[in-house]
Amino acid sequence: MKPPVYRAGVVSRSQQSFCPSETLPMGAGHISVLFLKKPAAKRYILRMKDDGVLRVTIPRGGSRNYAQEFALKNADWIQKQVEKVKSRPRFPEIWQHGTEILFRGERVKLQVHEDTVSFADQSLPLAAVDGNLTPMVLRHLQQLAVKELSQKTIELAKQHQLTIRRVTIRSQRSRWGSCSTNANISLNWRLIQTPAYVAEYIILHELMHLKQMNHSARFWKCVAEVCPDYARAEAWLKAKPNSLTNF
Ligand SMILES: [Zn+2]
Repeated sequence: MKPPVYRAGVVSRSQQSFCPSETLPMGAGHISVLFLKKPAAKRYILRMKDDGVLRVTIPRGGSRNYAQEFALKNADWIQKQVEKVKSRPRFPEIWQHGTEILFRGERVKLQVHEDTVSFADQSLPLAAVDGNLTPMVLRHLQQLAVKELSQKTIELAKQHQLTIRRVTIRSQRSRWGSCSTNANISLNWRLIQTPAYVAEYIILHELMHLKQMNHSARFWKCVAEVCPDYARAEAWLKAKPNSLTNF
């Protein structure tokens, strides 16, 4: 049995994909579209992500032309999704002295003192570009996430006598974590922004998928056994994600 490993940094989906250059006429304007050929897909799929870019999955044997037609046929649905994305409150993207960020479930202020930036119990050397603290603070948060979430996962797996192969910290847009059949666990770095009990619940949730690869009643029974208070964590996640960063 190999010890679980984790990668040194956050794996970002956006680093892997490319800039969409295609647009589709929609309503009075245009929307950006990314056509994705997926041989494993069984049908055409439309997905709208937080970045406002429409993803159109083309299944095996499908064509780009039909995919475009399919998207245009669903213009009403797409426009509704565009409105939803626009109405979502966004966290400020340029962080400065005094900006509040969410850290371990609390709103904390970024404070610049001479050559350091501090928030909560964290302090880091100032390396801001044009007064924008975002890149450096973000990097710090992600490094903390890699270290702490990976350690916590390994610790909880051990405690519950579960074998995991790898923990990867990612920058998923719409999920908190996942667990593969090969016992690879992926976690969202933003769990460093949630209260500790929420992060712990997500880790336990993914670990319990090693016992039950589904969301059956049996699965939830496993979750309740190891995390009796999980409903509270679910409620926090339902109510609060908008205050998380959207990078
Ligand atoms: Zn699940």
